[in-house]
Amino acid sequence: MQIFDVVIVGAGIAGLNTALNIPKDKKVLILCKENSWDCNTFYAQGGISVPVDEEDIELHIKDTLLAGAGLCDEDAVRVLCSEGMDAVKSLMDRGLEFDKDNEGNLLYTKEAAHSRNRILHAGGDATGRVVHLFLMQNNPHPLMYKTTVVDILKKDDRVYGVRVFHKGKFKNIYCKNLVLASGGIGSLYEFHTNSRTISADIQGLALECGCELRDMEMTQFHPTVFVNTDKARKQLLSESLRGEGAYVVNEKGERFLFDYDERGELSPRDIVSRAIFDYKQKHKGERVYLSFENFEKSFFKKRFPTIYYNLKDLGFNLPEERVPISPAFHYAMGGIKCDLDTKVANFRNLFVVGEVASTRVHGANRLASNSLLEGIVFSIRAAKAISRNDTDFSHIEFEDKNEPLFKEGDKEKKNELRKIMWDDVGIIRSREKLKSALHKVDMFIQEDIGKLLRLRLRVSKEIIKSALNRKESLGAHYIKE
Ligand SMILES: Cc1cc2nc3c(=O)[nH]c(=O)nc-3n(C[C@H](O)[C@H](O)[C@H](O)COP(=O)(O)OP(=O)(O)OC[C@H]3O[C@@H](n4cnc5c(N)ncnc54)[C@H](O)[C@@H]3O)c2cc1C
Repeated sequence: MQIFDVVIVGAGIAGLNTALNIPKDKKVLILCKENSWDCNTFYAQGGISVPVDEEDIELHIKDTLLAGAGLCDEDAVRVLCSEGMDAVKSLMDRGLEFDKDNEGNLLYTKEAAHSRNRILHAGGDATGRVVHLFLMQNNPHPLMYKTTVVDILKKDDRVYGVRVFHKGKFKNIYCKNLVLASGGIGSLYEFHTNSRTISADIQGLALECGCELRDMEMTQFHPTVFVNTDKARKQLLSESLRGEGAYVVNEKGERFLFDYDERGELSPRDIVSRAIFDYKQKHKGERVYLSFENFEKSFFKKRFPTIYYNLKDLGFNLPEERVPISPAFHYAMGGIKCDLDTKVANFRNLFVVGEVASTRVHGANRLASNSLLEGIVFSIRAAKAISRNDTDFSHIEFEDKNEPLFKEGDKEKKNELRKIMWDDVGIIRSREKLKSALHKVDMFIQEDIGKLLRLRLRVSKEIIKSALNRKESLGAHYIKE
């Protein structure tokens, strides 16, 4: 029987950078659901925030804590910002290239709620794609594609591996250490910016294993998304557009964000999302747009090539034309609770990194572009913690559980769930709507459904329960009686 030293679930920035930091002579296996690029990392546009110099560390910490609205763990934020420069440098030393000016100086841009320019970007607005390709090219360990993890093999305080569904068959994969780097929860919502592989099944399995999920009510909605497409993943218009001069207008071309916050377009994204949502509700039928008229065409094409060409495919000529926008679900601040070494409480050999983890580095609201940094910094910590983790593996037999993953009617119920989450557990919440959502989810759970839908429902229920437990609005959780 094959026993891996480490199995990593997920091939985004968190999983791949964990792998990069585990020596080649270790037996490591990375698993991902579809193709390797089907992950949120690949779609990241804006960039990676990182302190520009030693002096900027304290300011970056301050900005992160302020955005987090009092819910951050300050020690975690300190780790993120003080280890960030070295972590990013370690990738640059291996050959990762960020955008530079003609003199070869790194170009830093600004995004909402950062008090200075500190966002590195690559390929203009293709940071995620460039970083992902780089990590794939430098990956020293085998990667198994089109493999869905459907169970965590666990007994007492240890995990023994995972059960996967691959090429139409179930099988167990055994390991000494397990790293969960499976991303967020986007597909639970009707409108979202996430990759289609991001559907919260690992959070659901973690719950079933007895792990604690924390801060699940803290769901971040991105304010500027083009949602009028048939695709499940909606087209994001990066925060850095507003940072560099795009603005939000109504049908008459009037800027209205200043009526909501004096920082206008540069307010934190939860404030901008709520403002747009509220404006649309008050002006039924009126559209809200992102306007790029401040940009010169050749600069725009060079700086935002992905957005330029994606929107061209959708029939928009940028920067001349404005684009109708809506907020959409974007990022999960909450996740599986772990310590600063990424270790999950009460388990000897279970680690969690990236968007699926809750280190409380983002608190109640993530500062823009801090998540790629989190993926890099905490994956290095995970690799170090694993190297110190002396787990002797004594094999135990796990019964082959082949619970059906899907059942007839699941697809319709899944879409209904996504609507419930968007309508009742979205940008502006009320106790009444949350209670109604909880009731509907409870009813679905009792039906004859497949395992993957049950996992989605369990995580949705956790989000709703956490939202009901937090009576006051805080950060991204906004509740109106
Ligand atoms: C459109 C968009 C733009 C963004 N822009 C930025 C930005 O500019 N800067 C920034 O800092 N952040 C940005 N973010 C957020 C950031 O991209 C993500 O938080 C980050 O990439 C998450 O990385 P990750 O490695 O944790 O997860 P992902 O990159 O999402 O990877 C998850 C992996 O887990 C695998 N997986 C999931 N479930 C299973 C399963 N059951 N079995 C097997 N494998 C599984 C998936 O296949 C995938 O390989 C953006 C997000 C989106 C969606």
